Amino acid sequence: MKITDIRSMRLWGPRNHGVGGGTAKIAKVVVRVDTDTGLYGLGEVDDFMGVREALAYMKDYFVGRDAFAANAIVSEMLYGTQAPNPAGSPQGVMPGGRIAIRMCSPTATPWGPVVWAASGVDIALCDLVGKALKTPAYNLLGGRFREHAKVYLDRSSPDDVADLGAWRAMARETVASGFTQMKFDIDFMAPESVRDVWNRSLSLEQMNRIVERLTAVREAAGPDFEICVDCHMQYNVPDVVRLLERLRPLNLLWLEDPVPIINPDSCAQVRAKSSVPICIGEMFIAEQFRLFVDAGACDILHPDVLFCGGMHELRRIADFAELNHLPVAFHGNGGALATIAAAHVGVASRNFLGLEYHFIETPWIGSYVRRDVPLFRDGQVVMTDAPGLGVELDLEVCRQHLAPGEALLA
Ligand SMILES: [Mg+2]
Repeated sequence: MKITDIRSMRLWGPRNHGVGGGTAKIAKVVVRVDTDTGLYGLGEVDDFMGVREALAYMKDYFVGRDAFAANAIVSEMLYGTQAPNPAGSPQGVMPGGRIAIRMCSPTATPWGPVVWAASGVDIALCDLVGKALKTPAYNLLGGRFREHAKVYLDRSSPDDVADLGAWRAMARETVASGFTQMKFDIDFMAPESVRDVWNRSLSLEQMNRIVERLTAVREAAGPDFEICVDCHMQYNVPDVVRLLERLRPLNLLWLEDPVPIINPDSCAQVRAKSSVPICIGEMFIAEQFRLFVDAGACDILHPDVLFCGGMHELRRIADFAELNHLPVAFHGNGGALATIAAAHVGVASRNFLGLEYHFIETPWIGSYVRRDVPLFRDGQVVMTDAPGLGVELDLEVCRQHLAPGEALLA
């Protein structure tokens, strides 16, 4: 089954998330890998700079290669190979006019647009191989540990962040919707108290407001509901340690990305002083997780199928965590294809805690695919036994959200 084409399509639409749920725009890019059998696979990449250029390179590089060798050829793009290189690896000027870089990945470092694009190609190849073998993608990873994939809800703040009643109402609504876990963004919880957006500090005033609002959420959600908070890599070590001390009575499941994540040292300092589990890694590849686990810098690994290299790499990270007796949760603010891809890995990974869910505020990103059953039910991604990822594009929804200058992938 030879790859004949790799194409992509950029969709966009409203994004209702952030301080007060303000409306912005968000784009998602769908990837399609075609083969000489007529079968094709669907994947997704995020709309980051350089990603579509990387996809164009991979089209030139992968055309003619065996789609069943998904893990090997994506790995070639991420980590490279040594001479004499795999049969079929192009060299020189490729048909699309780009020059192939043999022996190593295009960056020689598995980081950035190459990894993000390769992630989408890997997802599409898993969909494709599952379709070819007439089996769900989770069976390519060893089969299911659980029937469905639990999701956790990422919430923005209410329109009026000072209204504790609105925080309580948001918590009650989340519980009533069938979720068992939700997450808030610390940096969006009390933005009116920020005096300097640059200095990575948390004032006592800001911490007091955050604690008041999260306490209201805890009271409304009840003692058994799991609550997490995300710091978006924004804060300095002493302030986040002080915040963690204040948050201790709330029994949080995790505090995410407390400090800048370029090295594990400061995160390890935070973890050493924290009674709240530390969750990190939404932009990491496998080897960065290895550095952070070895440094004692995290309790929960939080990879994203769109940023770690795809479904095979996501599973590899989950297994690494399992060997260290640590759980994985999957970061996710992608669209429907990214979410279903992560869910397939989640049900097939022993130590899977749950998968992030953003669609409650941006429903269109979950509706550009169709299948026989709803994507979500009772706080879970509903899994089926349909081949591959088990979804097809809803071309009408895609047409409605097609970004300017884009052609429908049909
Ligand atoms: Mg995060």
